[in-house]
Amino acid sequence: MQFQPLLEEIVAELRADLGREGQVASYIPALARVPAAQLGIALRTREGEEAHAGDSKTPFSIQSISKLFTLTLGMRELGEALWERLGREPSGNAFNSLVQLESEQGIPRNPFINAGAIAVTDRLVSRLDAKTELLKLVSSLCGEAIAFDEEVAASEAATGFRNVALANFMKSFGRIDNEVGTVLDVYFHACALRMSCLQLARAAGFLCRDGAHPCSSEQVLTERQARRINALMLTCGTYDAAGEFAFRVGLPCKSGVGGGIVAVVPDRLTLCVWSPALAPSGNSLLGMKALELFTARTGLSIF
Ligand code: GLN
Repeated sequence: MQFQPLLEEIVAELRADLGREGQVASYIPALARVPAAQLGIALRTREGEEAHAGDSKTPFSIQSISKLFTLTLGMRELGEALWERLGREPSGNAFNSLVQLESEQGIPRNPFINAGAIAVTDRLVSRLDAKTELLKLVSSLCGEAIAFDEEVAASEAATGFRNVALANFMKSFGRIDNEVGTVLDVYFHACALRMSCLQLARAAGFLCRDGAHPCSSEQVLTERQARRINALMLTCGTYDAAGEFAFRVGLPCKSGVGGGIVAVVPDRLTLCVWSPALAPSGNSLLGMKALELFTARTGLSIF
């Protein structure tokens, strides 16, 4: 299949809609300054063929896409024990909602909402130098040095009152072992990783390769673990729009409020789209449209 012309066609088609609809995330001040009229798309096949178009090499704040990598480290480090304090059901609520945590005794619904990622981060902090390991993992996966955007991390730390509330609430149920401040410092830095569409399409490559590293023979996760991440992406990766994504796109996806979305065609390729203006659900509006065009035109969907 010729992917390069298709990606160019999708970007050209959506360019007219740039900046028309949606809002750049404003609750994190450093993100509110990002110009909305940008759109990038990149993919990498299982065999290593790459295609990209638009602003595919512009680094952006990956935000909740980092929950993929935190979960990868968590699965690797803890295996089945990770699920002692973590569910795997869609929440049906906003990504930063507190409501279910009380009735469910501080156990988050899944690893892709904020509470879930904070809970996984806590387990990592108990076992390793989490910031260093996270940087090592993403840099190795995409074959380039990746860094945190310290300005975004500081901006989140200064305004992340809900995340502070989520972490303290879980701690009140005995579900967080470390100091809340220490755990959140790692969580905010993970959200503040700066990567481009092309780098993310590469870095998520193990998800279309049964857990095998995108460019080496190393096994990042077992085949079963990688398939389970794809299952969680489909059911929980786009917050309470997961049903809409399955309906319109038909691929496992993980989004972030920086406007990025990573999608996986199992056994075939990984894809990343980015456009900063968001729908009310927190998912990139044009990103979702771009993915919908991609699956409609290629017929690549898991259904
Ligand atoms: N850093 C953001 C937060 O914690 C991540 C949310 C997101 O991308 N959905 O609120």
